[in-house]
Amino acid sequence: MRCPECRHPHTKVTATRLQDEGTVVRRRRRCLHCGYRFSTLENCCVADLVVLKRDGSRETFEPQKILSALKKTFKKDVRSDESIRQLHQRIVQTIRGQEKRPLTSQMIGDIVLEELRRIDPMAYIRFASVYKNFQTPHDFASAAQAISEES
Ligand SMILES: [Zn+2]
Repeated sequence: MRCPECRHPHTKVTATRLQDEGTVVRRRRRCLHCGYRFSTLENCCVADLVVLKRDGSRETFEPQKILSALKKTFKKDVRSDESIRQLHQRIVQTIRGQEKRPLTSQMIGDIVLEELRRIDPMAYIRFASVYKNFQTPHDFASAAQAISEES
């Protein structure tokens, strides 16, 4: 980090502290050349994920959409908000952890479905029928098949 005053390339960090619940680091710095004091903020830069949709268009990945879909899926369920939130967090982490780019809406759907299938076969069916947008009875039948093979 160059000194903003004299452009000298070496500054000394004189203090470091966390703020915003530890998601931001503030460093006090002093220029070794002219003594100018300034601060830098360091925070995590989460790049927007781009999702390639089935129709070929692209959109920004919005974790919120998955959350509302999950809430709809569990609407008539006893599952608590907290467990839905945790499930959502796990799904979003898995999606962000994907190395394949671009992400496709199908990959995302499959990740969600995989999580649901593990915890709740009925929710899996409900979610699948909406999210995966089953086009034919055959699609639905094969999903049901996949479940019964696992149980
Ligand atoms: Zn300086």
